[in-house]
Amino acid sequence: MRHFDFRDGEMFAEDVSLREIANTVGTPCYVYSTATFERHFKVFSESFGSAKTLVAYSVKANSNIAVLATLAKLGAGADVVSGGELARALVAGIPARKIVFSGVGKTETEMRAALSAGIRIFNVESLPELYLLNSVALDMDTIAPIAFRVNPDVTAGGHEKISTGKKENKFGIAWSKAESAYAEAAKLPAIKIVGVDVHIGSQIDKLEPFERAIKKVGSLIERLRQSGHTIQSFDIGGGLGIPYGNNTKAPPLPTEYGALVTKLTRHMDVELIFEPGRMISGNAGILLSKVLYI
Ligand SMILES: *Cc1c(COP(=O)(O)O)cnc(C)c1O
Repeated sequence: MRHFDFRDGEMFAEDVSLREIANTVGTPCYVYSTATFERHFKVFSESFGSAKTLVAYSVKANSNIAVLATLAKLGAGADVVSGGELARALVAGIPARKIVFSGVGKTETEMRAALSAGIRIFNVESLPELYLLNSVALDMDTIAPIAFRVNPDVTAGGHEKISTGKKENKFGIAWSKAESAYAEAAKLPAIKIVGVDVHIGSQIDKLEPFERAIKKVGSLIERLRQSGHTIQSFDIGGGLGIPYGNNTKAPPLPTEYGALVTKLTRHMDVELIFEPGRMISGNAGILLSKVLYI
């Protein structure tokens, strides 16, 4: 279902003519389709059957506060990577308990803001970050809930510049160091281990990389539990691709992705967290401008 369409040579956003919007609010402006956001969010979040899930929209895909407020009303959480994105998500009405904080460069100030807000989980990407988070939480007399973002060393397809799950990428804890990182976290007084997190890339157009990453992380979860860690949540990240134009191969549908994920995780006894970005906001807006001179 497309919500930007030509009717008799004139483009409409849902049922409103773009000419009318241009005349009313001026140009340039961004025009977003609420119906598109609603549909994408609903299709994605209903793809996992009865599994316990949190769909945390990746704010970097579009951080417009009206967009975030639309998603908040649908029950979305947020995946943020900065204090600014955290502030926007909170202002838009996304509850802190549905916010996950990802990213390789969290600062002390951002950690403080997220701890005061009471977010769901920090996706920690390195040991130096872990140690700083522990000391900030200690200083605030609180406990920081964490997952490590692990790097499963899988090739995600998509574009090499937006691949994040190979060992040469800067993201996440190296696969060979994952278990020792958890052992380290368990020793820290202001850190609470809650889950495991992975995000292997963007615009992924096959299911197979997800399958490999989920299986690898599944076996890691078993080993971590054998070592005595409590693993409640498995964050599978985002990355599912969307169609661009008519001549590229269409990526798997959210329902196909959902069927795979539920099949692979059914036995794991975890809450699933997802961080879809472009899947939700791609095709949901346009930049409307006017030709001034020829
Ligand atoms: C970019 C990003 C996402 C969203 O990726 P999409 O390909 O837009 O779904 C999710 N999680 C993290 C950590 C990211 O960096």
